[in-house]
Amino acid sequence: MINEKCLNVEDIYGENVFNDTVMQDRLPKKTYQKLKETIREGRELDVETADVVAHEMKEWAIEKGATHYTHWFQPLTGVTAEKHDSFITAPKSSGKVLMSFSGKELIKGEPDASSFPSGGLRATFEARGYTTWDCTSPAFVRQDESGATLCIPTAFCSYTGEALDQKTPLLRSMEVINQQSLRLLRLFGNTTSKKVTPSVGVEQEYFIIDRENFLARKDLVYTGRTLFGAMPPKGQEMDDHYFGTLQEKIATFMKDADIELWKLGVPSKTEHNEVAPAQHELAPIYEECNVAVDHNQIIMETLRKVANRHGLQCLLHEKPFAGVNGSGKHDNWSLVTDDGINLLDPGKTPHENMQFLLVLCCILAAVDDHADLLRESASDVGNDHRLGGNEAPPCVISVYLGEQLQDVINQLVDTGSATHSIKGKKMETGVRTLPDFMKDATDRNRTSPFAFTGNKFEFRMVGSQDTVGEPNIVLNTIVAEAFSNACDVLEKADDFQTALHDYIKELAIKHQRITFNGNGYSREWAEEAARRGLPDIRSMIDAIPALTTDKTIEMFEKFHVFNRAELESRAEIEYEQYAKKINIEALTMIDMTSKQIIPAVMDYESTLADSIIAVESAIGRKPGTQVAILEEVDELLTETKAAFDKLVALSRKSHEIVGNVERARYFHDEVDVAMEALRRPVDRLEMIVDKDMWPMPSYGDMIFEV
Ligand code: ADP
Ligand code: MG
Repeated sequence: MINEKCLNVEDIYGENVFNDTVMQDRLPKKTYQKLKETIREGRELDVETADVVAHEMKEWAIEKGATHYTHWFQPLTGVTAEKHDSFITAPKSSGKVLMSFSGKELIKGEPDASSFPSGGLRATFEARGYTTWDCTSPAFVRQDESGATLCIPTAFCSYTGEALDQKTPLLRSMEVINQQSLRLLRLFGNTTSKKVTPSVGVEQEYFIIDRENFLARKDLVYTGRTLFGAMPPKGQEMDDHYFGTLQEKIATFMKDADIELWKLGVPSKTEHNEVAPAQHELAPIYEECNVAVDHNQIIMETLRKVANRHGLQCLLHEKPFAGVNGSGKHDNWSLVTDDGINLLDPGKTPHENMQFLLVLCCILAAVDDHADLLRESASDVGNDHRLGGNEAPPCVISVYLGEQLQDVINQLVDTGSATHSIKGKKMETGVRTLPDFMKDATDRNRTSPFAFTGNKFEFRMVGSQDTVGEPNIVLNTIVAEAFSNACDVLEKADDFQTALHDYIKELAIKHQRITFNGNGYSREWAEEAARRGLPDIRSMIDAIPALTTDKTIEMFEKFHVFNRAELESRAEIEYEQYAKKINIEALTMIDMTSKQIIPAVMDYESTLADSIIAVESAIGRKPGTQVAILEEVDELLTETKAAFDKLVALSRKSHEIVGNVERARYFHDEVDVAMEALRRPVDRLEMIVDKDMWPMPSYGDMIFEV
């Protein structure tokens, strides 16, 4: 246990990470320089250097208690995967073991890849898949009750080099945005910046409930969300949870989670209560894109693990409870040079900042041209319950610029040039002891899917348990494409200033339709968006086709981020995952209904019937109210049984349906609808049946009694 009085964050921060300081300390100078060069220039690591690095990494890990190492990777299952190997080797006939770890083992692994989804990219008999070390994301030692393991962040590819994971295309997209951003910077006379990297900060929402309650709910255990559950008398309408004082139990859990994260070099910074009861948020300080994506996986893993240690359960599902807000993940994104210039910083007078205006208009063009793809990157099964439900952004993608930038864009569109910028005003608090301060020139908008927030964009659509890999692959590539288009024109211009001015104006006019500053939840906006011709993609399965349109394939192939086969395989996997997940939900509902709910309702009916007989014999007539209740319960039970039978039949029939697309459609159009129909009478029964007889914890138990 860590004694909080002597906890020194600076001491523990990064203590389990093989980071730059450790490498400088432990590696021979030459090896260190070679490795740094390789990282900086994105080259392949040679075997000799790798051998030395591997040896030192192993020695360091063993000092931290590690006995095993694993290549830690992100296959297309949405979670991380690992295969553990111990460091031991047994020299012949010595009867003893040695601890060893070679450069080859560090750089390359070969997990039997046949049971990871590949969407037809790799037939199961060609099971070869390779993991390769991503030396730009530091290795770390994970310590827990089961011991300690050296985790090496890796990319995962097939034998023929196709990406089977999130990291490979993410690294490719970072390379592309780097190249195109440098091209753009050079246009403006910047000759000193050498590298441009997307900076990403991911805000993570989650629920915390008691683990005992969690284990008593099969739906939570098997699917991560409740499939039944009547609303408690109180929901989130009082807004008393948001930013409320943390309960001690939760605060203790959060502190422990922070300590774990800090040790792993994850810069966890902000924690607070969210809108819904039992809902919370954690935000780390932003980092380089691929590191931030890895760290978000570590954050999810750590929250789960530490919660369990505290007798709690962390729910990362997008919609664990119907009727209260679900959870999302905000992907904050900007572009920063190696010498510290943020390309998304407007400065005080954005109208004069031509480089910023070009960057901004290119982003508008990218989002407008690929709104469907961006929407797809944020879709998963759980997020379907959340998007468009007036608690998360609508399904229509639009960009919120805020008053100041919108005004600049409007000037460009109306008059062809922008001559002034709205200034931040002084905020007078009206209290003499509080200082007046300068307000931001721009307010916030919680309803927008893609909002400018000062010097970054915040993509607010992503689901809470989904990886941010995909959204960032898409963002990096679509913006790179827009930069590339701009550079193609501007590099050739005889009169750069005029060409630049014209190009910015042209983009502003063409893509102004994607900007919207109003209430994204309103019906007026849905109508207006339709008039503007913006896509309104309602569900994950309607979103998947965006992965394989000609436009998408052409762009990704042009920049070598994905080829056609990789995109087609990803679409296949998504359809397959959709069908599988809804199937598990349906089977769980069937199981709970037949084994728990119907028996409980029948018991309650017998109790009522016994009581009716007893009362009748006492008062000489049937007690009307009790009879009425019994009749109502019985009607609902009949309705439940009918809905149950229908779901069972549909679920059986699903086996006859072939093809991933067809199956996904079937689960969406038929099974999902039947599940809703079963839930309705059951939730009404929950309101009537004696609480002691209801076979599982209620919403009230779970979200108000943590
Ligand atoms: P907000 O209140 O606008 O959500 P926060 O300061 O809470 O802003 O930051 C939210 C997340 O955005 C954090 O993870 C933060 O580190 C990250 N962030 C801040 N600046 C940038 C930036 N320039 N690029 C990317 N992410 C950023
Ligand atoms: Mg935010």
